[in-house]
Amino acid sequence: MIIVLKPKASEADAKEILAGIERLGLTPLHMPGVERVVLGALGDERVLRELNLSGHPAVESVKPILTPYKLVGRELHPHDTVVNIGEVPVGGREFAVVAGPCAVETTDQLMACAEAVKAQGARLMRGGAFKPRSSPYSFQGHGHEGLRMLKEVSGKTGLPIVTEIMDANDIDRMEEIVGAYQVGARNMQNFSLLKALGRSRKPVILKRGLAATIEEFLLAAEYILAGGNDNVILCERGIRTFETATRNTLDLNAVAYIKQRSHLPILVDPSHGTGIRELVTPLARAAAAVGADGIIVEVHHDPKLALSDGHQSLYPQEFKQLMADIKPFVEAAGRVLA
Ligand code: PEP
Ligand code: MN
Repeated sequence: MIIVLKPKASEADAKEILAGIERLGLTPLHMPGVERVVLGALGDERVLRELNLSGHPAVESVKPILTPYKLVGRELHPHDTVVNIGEVPVGGREFAVVAGPCAVETTDQLMACAEAVKAQGARLMRGGAFKPRSSPYSFQGHGHEGLRMLKEVSGKTGLPIVTEIMDANDIDRMEEIVGAYQVGARNMQNFSLLKALGRSRKPVILKRGLAATIEEFLLAAEYILAGGNDNVILCERGIRTFETATRNTLDLNAVAYIKQRSHLPILVDPSHGTGIRELVTPLARAAAAVGADGIIVEVHHDPKLALSDGHQSLYPQEFKQLMADIKPFVEAAGRVLA
């Protein structure tokens, strides 16, 4: 429920109403704005009748939140959220670029990739230490040893790290290393992982599930916010359709739709979205044009040697071209490249 207070409502009025909401077992929210204070009540709204809020002298209006995703939606929170990964803002005027290899392989590989992407202006680096592979016989990532390499390279280059978490038990080990946790498509509805990340304060990049509807995607994000962590960045990475020519179908509808319905920033992953190196840059341009807050792109210093996703990873020279090619689209969308 959204409870808008009258301009003359006092701090004491807000406190009294919030206490009433809490007493009924609902979660109270306090959102002081420039013009007026908005309060929220999350939970079974029927019990609120007891408080007779519309009869309260300090209350201007009481209306239900129509979307099932209450915290992620714009009804309670109309303004865009900016999530900082280290010192890099995602969701503001700056178009964010996260780039790096699919997987952490060696310190030298990671260093070469980091230098290549940093030289072209990427301010965030990606690389998976834990790899959720379709086959148990494929390279699974170097795990904790990979995290050590990420820490070393992040320290040397100053680039915050985006890396995937697959198991909530790894949070303690990862917390001081990561700039942002990535929740992979295959774990979008791993609810115990989402709840555990709700207890962290580190940013979480939540990728859309392979066959998740937009509503399911936003409700997965809702789990993290409901747990207390507001630092969530969404990521459209393509969905399964009848199409087999490309690895996935990059759903740019979802980006435009989500920008309207949710205040959370959203990135586009044109690497997994297409699965084809030559299509990464055109779809990165489209992502910027549609209003995404940034991209996450696979770049490898030598893709033919990559242990995973080499076929869709850009060569450093191609990444350089991508950065030049997206610029006019980023600017046309009212954004800037750092
Ligand atoms: C990845 O980013 O390398 C990855 C595994 O992505 P997704 O979870 O989107 O498949
Ligand atoms: Mn990959």
